Amino acid sequence: MIYDEKRPLFKAPGVKDIRAGKARKTVNDYGARTIDGLEYDEYLEIRSNFSILPEGYRNARHFLKKGPQLDVRVPDTMEACKKEKKGISARIREGLKRAPCNRKYRGYGWSEIDSGQHKIFALTDIITGLELFAAVRQCLTNEEISVNDYGQRCAATVPSKSGGESHLVDFVGMPTETSDNVFADGVNMKMHCDCKANVYHGALNTKYKQGENRVCDHLAAGYFAVAKEKLAEKRPRIQQNPIPVPKCRLLQFNDKLTNNVIKRRFADGRADTLSETEREILLWEYVQFKGPDKCFWFDEGALGSVKRAMVYAIRRSAKEQGI
Ligand SMILES: [Zn+2]
Repeated sequence: MIYDEKRPLFKAPGVKDIRAGKARKTVNDYGARTIDGLEYDEYLEIRSNFSILPEGYRNARHFLKKGPQLDVRVPDTMEACKKEKKGISARIREGLKRAPCNRKYRGYGWSEIDSGQHKIFALTDIITGLELFAAVRQCLTNEEISVNDYGQRCAATVPSKSGGESHLVDFVGMPTETSDNVFADGVNMKMHCDCKANVYHGALNTKYKQGENRVCDHLAAGYFAVAKEKLAEKRPRIQQNPIPVPKCRLLQFNDKLTNNVIKRRFADGRADTLSETEREILLWEYVQFKGPDKCFWFDEGALGSVKRAMVYAIRRSAKEQGI
């Protein structure tokens, strides 16, 4: 992702920027392996009759709502959670490991035990959330993420990536070390944002009886900020991490999808950048190709992971600015 000194906070390159100064790579395969092999001065143009979206979906939005997700296995009862003593990040990791190769996913998710509501996490939102969090921490923007920590309930104000406005996120029932049943909290934690992503993808989603809660990029950024805040002395720390932290190579692959790939879509041969859904599908392909441990930190508690992610983000930012 490119940080812009002026507004907006994030600026994705257009087709012209992607082509400028780069050599076009000609291949017959448009998978994650090919994209991963692109050099910084190369770009890939995906031909118009090749569809990244699987068959059977009218458009990207249809896939985002009704497409398959990686189902994380969680127990049916609070008691079973206590007995099994397995954290949500370990469950996510297991799910990612057993995911069959080349399945196209819209995210990973599970249904909360207490409410039955389905939660869905898209990799694109997690990555943008981490970048938002890192940009704020590095003072690349005047915006701030302000956190109010009330123990198991926390709230934060997160700037939008286009700048100008901010969103209020809140977390209820956070899996902190003071909780009685931290394993159930990891599954049941409520996450809410006031942006429209949830209205479009969640409340109106008819795939699940109890609706769906989409964990947007503001929630991911807010979650990382809260986790960081809770590292301060004498604060109850987070014991379960429902959002694995993307590693450097996954962030780099996402940068290639943004900076080095375009797709022909129009009858006259005009091209366009990849949509968020197309990036999501290709990110999943990459995770399956590399293996989850090469792509994420799954640390329980998010302690080490958020710190390390910040170290990476700072290094990357310095590189982008030519320092
Ligand atoms: Zn949001």
